[in-house]
Amino acid sequence: MTEIIKVNPSMPEKAKIRRAAQLLSQGKVVAFPTETVYGLGCNAFDEDAVEKVFKAKGRPSDNPLIVHIGSKRQLPILVSGISEKEKKLIDAFFPGPLTLIMNKTGIVPYATSGGLETVAIRMPKHKVAQAILKEAGIPIAAPSANISGRPSSTTAEHVISDFMGRVDAIVDGGKSRIGLESTVVDASTSEILRPGGITKEEIEKVIGRVEISTASTNKSPGMKYRHYAPSAKVILFTGRKKAIQEYADRLMKSKKVGVISIYHSFRADEARHAGNSLHEYARSIFALFRELEEKVDVILVEGVEEKGIGIAIMNRLRKAASEIV
Ligand code: AMP
Ligand code: MG
Repeated sequence: MTEIIKVNPSMPEKAKIRRAAQLLSQGKVVAFPTETVYGLGCNAFDEDAVEKVFKAKGRPSDNPLIVHIGSKRQLPILVSGISEKEKKLIDAFFPGPLTLIMNKTGIVPYATSGGLETVAIRMPKHKVAQAILKEAGIPIAAPSANISGRPSSTTAEHVISDFMGRVDAIVDGGKSRIGLESTVVDASTSEILRPGGITKEEIEKVIGRVEISTASTNKSPGMKYRHYAPSAKVILFTGRKKAIQEYADRLMKSKKVGVISIYHSFRADEARHAGNSLHEYARSIFALFRELEEKVDVILVEGVEEKGIGIAIMNRLRKAASEIV
C-alpha cells in the first residue's frame, strides 16, 4: 500500500508534512518533490531503510545516495571539516541545486555512501522538501525517484508510475521547477562530477576555475551507468535542422516517430516543441520522454548549445541516447 499525500506546494499543510516526516522517522520510504526532480527519501542513518531505497530503484549498491539536510546545523554531524571553498559554496548555494562531496563522519553508514569515505550533501530549496526535512529533523538520503536507468521524475504521476505499491508514501507537490538533477561538485579537486541545476559559470564566480570531469576519470560512481532513458529508442542530434527531418521522414515509413525540439519545428507522428528557452527545455525533457515512450518507437531529440544549463541538458541527453548524429 502506497499512501498518496497531496500537498499545496506554496503553502504545505502542517498535518501532511508531519505525516510524511513521521513515516521517514519510522524507517519508511517516502518520495517527495524538490526543485530539481522528485527524490525517494529515507532516514540516511538507517541502513535497513537505505537498503529498501536501493531495492525499490534497482540501483547498484556502489552508487551512493545524496543526503538531504533541512539545516546547515546538520553539517558537522555528517562531514568532518569544511574547507574554505566548501564554506563559500555552502553560503552561495545552500539551499539550492548544488550537491557537495565531502569527507563523511563515522555516523554516516557505508550503505548510504556506497562504500565511500565521502558523502554527498544537498540542502534543497523546495518548500515541501524543506518542510519535511525540518519536521523530520534527521538527514534524508534521497536518490532521484525513478527506477534505475529511467528518466527522473518531475511530477508525482511519474513517481506513481514507477513506484506505486512499492514504497510507503508519495508526497505530491506538483511539478519540479528545474527538471534536472543537482550539480555535483568535489571542491577538494575543483571538479564538477555531474553538471546540473547550477552552472559552471555560477560556481566559478564563487570559487574560481573548476573543471567538468570527463567520463573516464569521473569519481562519481553514478556517472558510469546508462541513465535517464525512456523505453523508446532515443537518437540525439547535435547538428542542424535538416538531419532531424530527414531521419523522421525515413523512420516514419516503418515506425512511430516522436521529435522533441527547441529551436525548430518538425513533422512527425508526435512532435513536441518544448519551450523557448534552455530552462524550459530542461524542465520538460524528462516529462516528454515519459509521455512519448507510451506513443512512439523512436524519439529524435534536438540537441542544444553546451553553454550554461545547456551543459547539463546535453549530459542527460547523451546518456539517454543510443545513437548520436
Ligand atoms: P541521484 O541520487 O540519482 O541524483 O544520483 C546522485 C549522484 O551523486 C550519482 O551520480 C552519484 O554517483 C553521485 N554521488 C553520490 N555520492 C557521491 C560520492 N560520495 N562521491 C561521488 N559521487 C557521489
Ligand atoms: Mg538519478
